Amino acid sequence: MTGPTGLWPKTGEVPGFSGTIDRSPDSRSLSPKDKSIVSLVVPFYNEGEGVFFFHEAIVPIMEQIPGIGFEVVCVDDGSRDNTLDVLVDIARRDSRFRVVELSRNFGKEAALTAGIDAARGDAVIPIDADLQDPPELIPVLIDEWRKGAEMVLAHRSDRRSDTFMKRKTAEFFYRIHNKLSNVKVPENVGDFRLMDRAVVESLKRLPERQRFMKGLFTWVGFRTVTVSYVRKPRITGATKLSPWKLWNFALEGITSFSTAPLRIWTYVGIVGALAAFLYGSFIALRTIFFGVVVPGYASLLVSILFIGSLQLISIGVLGEYIGRIYLETKQRPTYIVRKVYQDGSSGREE
Ligand code: UDP
Ligand code: MG
Repeated sequence: MTGPTGLWPKTGEVPGFSGTIDRSPDSRSLSPKDKSIVSLVVPFYNEGEGVFFFHEAIVPIMEQIPGIGFEVVCVDDGSRDNTLDVLVDIARRDSRFRVVELSRNFGKEAALTAGIDAARGDAVIPIDADLQDPPELIPVLIDEWRKGAEMVLAHRSDRRSDTFMKRKTAEFFYRIHNKLSNVKVPENVGDFRLMDRAVVESLKRLPERQRFMKGLFTWVGFRTVTVSYVRKPRITGATKLSPWKLWNFALEGITSFSTAPLRIWTYVGIVGALAAFLYGSFIALRTIFFGVVVPGYASLLVSILFIGSLQLISIGVLGEYIGRIYLETKQRPTYIVRKVYQDGSSGREE
């Protein structure tokens, strides 16, 4: 799988780590940071069976990283199983864990936003609860950050754990999205990444309610370094993102970062009108020279149907954008917090 090498030109090896690192030229220039806090932001939706494994996997890795304190912001995205109970239990025993309970299921993007807003660390790492994003990579991300990178991307060099359909549709999505939009989302880079506090603060300033996080992450920019890893299968449970959710997510991405689908119809209209004009001239000439040969029923029907469907599609595209304008103008919050659990206590959000 090829990464967006145009953006991050240099490639190097990290001792003890099997992937590769792409480094933008000036990323080493900043002085190293010591004793800083790293926040992990983890969205949980019906992950009851996996919470325990997550805790077991994360803690030893984070404790081993020298000169780093850490906190884990767990966002319960309206789970209907025992996820919240298990999380609260962990937070009671381990003060580094904090649980933000959302009032219902708001979706992964909103859950991530809630977690990022609640995070207090000098760097923030969003990571999936199912351990598909390898926690072993976290020290590598932090290392790059200490060397001066403000955003460290984790690039999936191998997606064999995903189904063929998911890989192909993802590839197709990135291609279309990056063709249409000025904000080029790097291919096969998920939400798993490290962001410096400066990046997080910029993200928080983006006011949109419809949050396509991958696009927003890219939009803010900053000094970026890429690290490669191999994506593993889920440890427990099944994916929470159905093909329909992913399709809507793709629409979200494209309509959030590009107005090309709106503009396309102008050109389609011009080409259609031109074709209709030529065809009309042809019919007129034919009638003048040869008289009425056939009644023209078929061609009439075909053109009416064709133009009609084009109009429906273009109205649909307009509808997508108007729907988004409508949602944005309502200014509703992206998520609602029901409770925050911390240090064994719980506090209702004001
Ligand atoms: N997730 C969430 N809310 C949702 C759906 C998913 O918080 O509505 C979380 C889920 O618990 C997991 C992460 O988002 O931690 C990624 O979900 P999943 O593993 O199902 O997606 P995939 O890895 O298949 O893309
Ligand atoms: Mg997953």
